[in-house]
Amino acid sequence: MKVDSASELQPVTDTGVALAAQLRAHTRGEVMFDAAARGRYATDASIYQVTPVGVFVPADEADVRTALQIARELKVPVLPRGAGSSQCGQTVGACLVIDCSKHLRRVITLDAPHRTVRVQPGIVLDELNARLKAHGLWFPVDVSTSAQATLGGMAGNNSCGSRSIAYGNMVHNVSGVHLRLADGDALHAGPLAHLTGRAATAAHVVRTLAETHCIEIDAMWPRVMRRVGGYNLDIFRPRSERPYTADGSVNLAHLFVGAEGTLGFIEALDLHLTALPRGKVLGVVNFASFHRAMDSARHIVKLKPTAVELVDRTMIELARANPAFKSVIESALIGAPEAILLVEFSGDDRTALRMQLRKLGELMGDLGLPHCVVEMADEAPQKALWEVRKAGLNIMMSLKGDGKPVSFIEDCAVPLEHLAEYTAALTDVFTRHGTRGTWYAHASVGTLHVRPILDMRRDGATKMRAIAEEASALVRKFKGAYSGEHGDGLCRGEWIRWQFGPKLSEAFRAIKQHLDPDNLFCPHRIVDPPRMDDASLFRFAPDYRTIALKPVFDWSAWNVQNDPATEAISAPGTGDDATLGFAKAVEMCNNNGHCRKFDAGTMCPSYRVTRDEQHLTRGRANTLRLAVSGQLGPDALTGDAVHDALALCVGCKGCKRDCPTGVDMARMKFEVQAQRHARFGATWHDRVIGRVPDYARWASRLPWLFNLRNQVPALAALGERWLGVSAQRRLPTWQRDTAGRRSRELGLVTREALLRSHAAGQKTAVLWCDTFNEHFEPHNAVAALRVLKAAGYAVHLARADGGGAPCCGRTHLAVGDVERARAKARALHAALLPFAERGIAIIGLEPSCLLTLRDEHLVMGMGDSARTIASQALLFEEFIVREARAGRFAPAWRRPAQRLLVHGHCHQKAFGLMGDVVAALQLLPGADVSVIDSSCCGMAGSFGYEAAHREVSMRMAELSLLPAVRAAGDAIIVADGTSCRHQIADGAQRQALHVAQVLADHLAAAAAI
Ligand SMILES: Cc1cc2nc3c(=O)[nH]c(=O)nc-3n(C[C@H](O)[C@H](O)[C@H](O)COP(=O)(O)OP(=O)(O)OC[C@H]3O[C@@H](n4cnc5c(N)ncnc54)[C@H](O)[C@@H]3O)c2cc1C
Ligand code: SF4
Ligand code: SF4
Repeated sequence: MKVDSASELQPVTDTGVALAAQLRAHTRGEVMFDAAARGRYATDASIYQVTPVGVFVPADEADVRTALQIARELKVPVLPRGAGSSQCGQTVGACLVIDCSKHLRRVITLDAPHRTVRVQPGIVLDELNARLKAHGLWFPVDVSTSAQATLGGMAGNNSCGSRSIAYGNMVHNVSGVHLRLADGDALHAGPLAHLTGRAATAAHVVRTLAETHCIEIDAMWPRVMRRVGGYNLDIFRPRSERPYTADGSVNLAHLFVGAEGTLGFIEALDLHLTALPRGKVLGVVNFASFHRAMDSARHIVKLKPTAVELVDRTMIELARANPAFKSVIESALIGAPEAILLVEFSGDDRTALRMQLRKLGELMGDLGLPHCVVEMADEAPQKALWEVRKAGLNIMMSLKGDGKPVSFIEDCAVPLEHLAEYTAALTDVFTRHGTRGTWYAHASVGTLHVRPILDMRRDGATKMRAIAEEASALVRKFKGAYSGEHGDGLCRGEWIRWQFGPKLSEAFRAIKQHLDPDNLFCPHRIVDPPRMDDASLFRFAPDYRTIALKPVFDWSAWNVQNDPATEAISAPGTGDDATLGFAKAVEMCNNNGHCRKFDAGTMCPSYRVTRDEQHLTRGRANTLRLAVSGQLGPDALTGDAVHDALALCVGCKGCKRDCPTGVDMARMKFEVQAQRHARFGATWHDRVIGRVPDYARWASRLPWLFNLRNQVPALAALGERWLGVSAQRRLPTWQRDTAGRRSRELGLVTREALLRSHAAGQKTAVLWCDTFNEHFEPHNAVAALRVLKAAGYAVHLARADGGGAPCCGRTHLAVGDVERARAKARALHAALLPFAERGIAIIGLEPSCLLTLRDEHLVMGMGDSARTIASQALLFEEFIVREARAGRFAPAWRRPAQRLLVHGHCHQKAFGLMGDVVAALQLLPGADVSVIDSSCCGMAGSFGYEAAHREVSMRMAELSLLPAVRAAGDAIIVADGTSCRHQIADGAQRQALHVAQVLADHLAAAAAI
């Protein structure tokens, strides 16, 4: 096996050094020219990687103008970028990348009565629509990446949403583009009649070109709505199925939509808005054959739906296999269909909408498919099903192994009457090349997404070329568009000449030369593009290698290969990876950018506060990939760049659940910490923080001494200076009355007694009290005991060999001390195994500790005992919900007088356990339970206590948690995480309670303890 790594990223050139210096001197923006930062901006959601000259994050528009001027003077090309979610390599290039997404995201003016808005380019679609909702308006180009895509990027790509059949693409919804040209001039593009200055001249040039080439336009221009390739020369000779303007007039702004940043920098956009429809209904049409689904689309669109979206059998099965989507997809199925079409109607009259659904059923009956429509009239199930459809691509991308579904012909558009024939023929092409594709998306407009599985490190490029050639022949045969949604970029640039012919390609060159004669903006895009299969541009080129690494965790589940024709995965450990699977786990990040989100879910709290690519799951995964492939130089995995990228990762595991490909950055951070520990050893801070469980027993015997730090400011100041623990934080206070020391008084039974009770068929459980609930908050353990005893359980408190609370080793893992962590885990396993082997539940109170048993312990080489223990390890709420459902848990309760407001611990969310927390609280009669829509609390173990992180920690908490707690009135705040409770106390001066405490407080008969 060859284990030499890929070559290092190109160093910064002298020009780059000068550029960086000038940017630093003359702007307020962030200037990033180090290898890791440039590496993070070298990729987007495509297969390509090109290292930029440098990265600039402007603070405002003035910064942009200054940067353009400096770049022009130094002759460095410029590439504007939004979320970088482009699939064709639009946002990678050897340029100065200007990231608009951090600061250029204002709504400049909103004119609700006239339904127009002017925005800066970096605003994200969902953020804009959230603001418009109050006015009953929305911007209806609803791309699947609506939570990430910026309006500038959407305009750059001429993006298209699922509902384009009703609302059109970007080009149909942009009314003005305000551009900064290469020479520094402004160009305001809008309706032709009002143009002046540079805009009027440009319009004249483009009009002349369109007139000169009218014959070629008529002959070569695809007559489909979904055509986004090349420049929109057809503004002066309309060819789109859907006219660009309602009245047929010309708007120069449309030339710049789809220009992919090649003609100028968009400083602002004027957008048409649409009234939010009051109602929507969804008919899910189930088909026994894929061909029938495709053939029916042309009939269904005659009913004037707002969307017709395909989900094929593979996607259905993948969704079924995903716990988050299973019940949702199943609610839409009749039997086992080969494909479903999601047919949506929207409008203000609900009776009319129901009528439409009826008509859909009748139409399908007329087509010989009676009773195949599942009707969804309510909003919630519709929304849930749309989420499954939107997650389609991401679900597909979770395939492990080097073969990945590759985007290159994934949005060819053909007229609807040929859709069935086209998809059948393309499926044959895939089969001939030993691969297959999963079909989904926009059946209404003839743009079906499909990605064949290719291994770009091996024969992928050859197959890509062959498939592209055959697909293009089909597109030509059916008079379609090769580039129908995702733009040209590096991948489709060479097909522009194929699609439009040499004369129109020269016309495109003339447009570029008129507006950007010195090629300042995004060279080699649209005009003079490279070959799509130029391996020097690939992220995973055939010479891609990784360093050799002996990881401390078991990553073999990722060390596999797949069969592109069947998607079957080889056995764990057979993937020939020099890092034994760690690199392949890292490489699961396909850069789709889904982690750049601010809406639901946990991922990614640090990005939510900093908006820095470095502090994003994607940025971290890219940094790790560059490090393990040697592109950041020797020993980079344990070097500063990786350390810095991981510094604000709070290990919340939000990505483990929310990332569509399951990138588990928390575990990766543990791995890196362990590698660093092996290289550099432990710091004082690591020793004091990591070894809390080691000295906890003694500290809780002398609580007055150890708690002095909270009372004597000088000690807190010393702690900050020597150990980096923030003096502004109160530390948890040591308690003498631990559950262990009160075991007799609490009525706990011995190990032997518990085993006897279990053998006698009595209700039994083991309570495992983690270090924190044992020594800082023993009242939670007491509360849990009261509840369990009230329900008739005999309870044994797990003890380590020499007495004391056994620890899971998590604090050691956090500082990379895996050996100590393993020793701790072994001692814990020894204490728990006799019970787990007999099927006795092991109940934990602290989510991060208990769930370590079901997560990290399984990959630490601890053998079968780890699996046995994991199978019995339950959080308190999981246990009682399970028992209550089985009819074994029914103490008498009091009705809570206040409402219950829950903040979920990140690991509870990551393991999908929030339902159990709510269900446990709902055991209380009449309980009014709601969950705060919050990400990480920001405390995250020791993270928020550290002086270096306190501020960012508080900002995480202020995003949603603390405001919700402050607004909660007299509600009881429920939080199972020790650090979450401390953060709430620190930030909102409210005492949050463990779910066990809440339940204990509402037992009808006060238990003896
Ligand atoms: C999982 C997934 C699903 C997707 N689904 C869809 C979909 O449903 N519909 C769809 O159309 N696309 C889709 N895409 C593609 C992509 O998300 C969209 O094209 C999106 O609109 C790009 O937005 P962005 O902010 O990421 O732009 P970027 O990728 O950052 O940039 C896009 C282009 O705009 C240019 N640009 C950005 N800002 C400026 C500026 N200020 N001035 C000039 N040019 C600028 C860039 O140079 C680039 O050429 C999908 C991608 C993924 C990964
Ligand atoms: S980390 Fe996950 S969500 Fe983020 S870009 Fe990578 S694959 Fe997408
Ligand atoms: S573990 Fe949490 S903070 Fe770290 S990358 Fe994942 S989502 Fe972000």
